[in-house]
Formats: sequence, structure tokens, C-alpha cells
Amino acid sequence: MTSPFRFDLHKTSGAARLSTFTTPHGPIRMPAFAPVGTLANVKTLEPRDLDELGCDLILANTYHLYLRPGHELIARMGGLHKFMAWHGPILTDSGGYQVFSLAHQRELDEDGVTFRSHIDGSRHRFTPERVMEIEQALGPDIAMVLDECPDPLSYDYNVAALARTHRWAERCKTAHTRPDQALFGIVQGGVFPDLRQTSAQFLGGLDFAGYAIGGLAVGETKEQMYATLDETCPAVPADKPRYLMGVGAPEDIIEAVRRGVDMFDCVLPTRVARNAALLTPDGRINLRNAQYAEDPRPVQEDCTCYTCRTFSRAYLRHLYKAGEISALRFGTIHNVHFLMELMRRIRAAIADDTLDDLRAEFLARYRLSNQAVRHDQRRRRRENLLNQTTK
Ligand SMILES: [Zn+2]
Repeated sequence: MTSPFRFDLHKTSGAARLSTFTTPHGPIRMPAFAPVGTLANVKTLEPRDLDELGCDLILANTYHLYLRPGHELIARMGGLHKFMAWHGPILTDSGGYQVFSLAHQRELDEDGVTFRSHIDGSRHRFTPERVMEIEQALGPDIAMVLDECPDPLSYDYNVAALARTHRWAERCKTAHTRPDQALFGIVQGGVFPDLRQTSAQFLGGLDFAGYAIGGLAVGETKEQMYATLDETCPAVPADKPRYLMGVGAPEDIIEAVRRGVDMFDCVLPTRVARNAALLTPDGRINLRNAQYAEDPRPVQEDCTCYTCRTFSRAYLRHLYKAGEISALRFGTIHNVHFLMELMRRIRAAIADDTLDDLRAEFLARYRLSNQAVRHDQRRRRRENLLNQTTK
């Protein structure tokens, strides 16, 4: 049987790649950004919105769906696509990151990890085999191996974690049997070039359908993240998709694409939209601010999304201030559109070798006013990992 998956590399421009990853539920035009639907739902959006916005891929979280409503229930309901009525490609993470950042009383051993649910405190155990069983029951097009997510700045911890993550990757590969599902390996190794090289080579030898770069955007600086991508991208097989997990800030996407990354996911556009923070070419604006109270302009003058075609900043601010649920939806539509439009422009720029121009033009205008805020968020995420580790 021929594989339903195919990676077509159409063009490179420097290290950047224009490509298509074909899955049983359709092609993913890459570089691609996947909005996150943690609970099999991109909050406030419907499948027809995602279609209209041009989303080729969405992500759902294994940890959350396993706990509620349960992977077996979803399998009985015909699998994730049918259950959520989204017929495009879906990727599920392995739950590893959530176990290491969200679950309580985590106990790690060579065979797997035992934890308590953050919902009701019940005890659960993830092993590589168990996670493959869960992801194969959920039935996304792309599944991820179970990995450990260590503090990216601790060398000794990364050495120990990497050996275990590699053994888990082998066990996932053995346990994964579903031919209509692509299994991706996850390169770990923190910010350490030698560990990233080792991990890329080891996982490359296991011949996964794609390679994720994990353990970034959790406490390191942007410079460390970019340097790690410089090391890692050339070290994984060139004929497979490369996926940078959990990164969605526009400036990071552009920098990562320039280094050879093909896929991204992040809660950023949807999460900040629910806090009235909307993305524009000038940076984020917060519609709760008084300056927008009588602003008749759309969120973004040249934006073609439904929200910008229809509503003023003044009206949206009123909805946010009044706590109307429509505000969350209109904001989310715009932010997802902003990311999709950025990816379209990136793909066009790779096609005509103008990615450096796009980068210069974008960064000249895009205000990174949230730099300090984001650094603070990353520090907190890292502290969270550290706390979990020492328990
Ligand atoms: Zn818009």
C-alpha cells in the first residue's frame, strides 16, 4: 500500500522552504500555521470559519481529550475529525508537555510518567505505548511521540532526559501501526548544540514522517531559540516536514522560516484575542484602551477579514467592555486571519525570493511592545517546569 502522506518541496530560498505536506484529509501548504483547538474546538470558531480563514491544519491536545471526554469515546464517535466535524488535517501533540507543565504530582520513571489530572486529581499513567494507543484512537492525521520537556537551560537534566526521550521515541515508533496517520519525532536537547545534533541524528535514523523541534519558547531568550534552530534544522532529514512546536509570535515565525521551519502552532492568536489584544502590522493593540472608544476605523485598515470588513474599533471595544461573547469571536477571527495572511505572504516571498524584504518590511513596522511581557511569560513557564521537576 502506498502511503497517503507525501512531502513535496517546491522551492527553497536560502534555508526557507516552500512545500506541501499531503495528508489523508488534504494538503497542508507550508510554511503553515495551525491554530490550537485544545478540546477539539478552536475556541469561538466553527469549522466553516476555519475553512473560510484558509486554515489547512489545526492542533488538538491529547492530554486534554484523553481526560475529557476520553479517547475511547471519541473513537466510538468515529474519531476526532467526525466528532468535531472538521474534515481538514489535524495534528495531536503527545500530551507530554501538558503532563510536564499542567498535571499534578508527576512521577517520572524509565517506563513512563504517572500524574494526577488537573481536573479532578485522578491518577493516570502515560507510557509511549499508551500514548500511541490514545493518539491512534483519536485518529488525527499527524501524531507526536511522547517526549520529556526539560528546562531548556539545564545541561545535566537535558542529557538525562534526552536518552530517555530517545528510548521513548523508539518505543512509540514500534507501537505505532496506523498507516493513515503520520508519526513525528521530537528533537530535544535544550539550548545545547551538541545535544540537539545528537537528538536530530538519532531520530533521523528512526525515519519518522516528520520532525518537530521541541522544548523551545519555554524560558530561553529569542537569540538562544534562533541559534538552536540554526543548529537543528540542517541536522534533521531534509525530505521531511520540520515543525516548531508552540511558537506563534509573528517575528519568531519569520525568523524560524528563514532557518528552515515548515510548521507552527500556538495558542497566541486565539488566546490574546479573548483578552482584547488584536494583532496588526504595527503590533498588538488592546481594544479595551480608552483611545478606541470612538474610533470608527476597523482593527486593521487593509484587513479583509469579516471583523474588519464589518465592525469599528469603537463597537468591538464596547463588546469587550460589556463582556459580550461575540467580542471574543470577532477578535479571534481577526487574529487567526492575521496569522494566515502572514503565512500566505511568507509563502509568496519564498516563491519569489523576497523573504528578506518581507522580514525587513514587517519588522520595521511591527512594534514588539510586548517583549518584556513575553519574556516574563517564558520565565514563568520555565519556573513552572522547574517546580514540576523538583516535586
Ligand atoms: Zn481583520
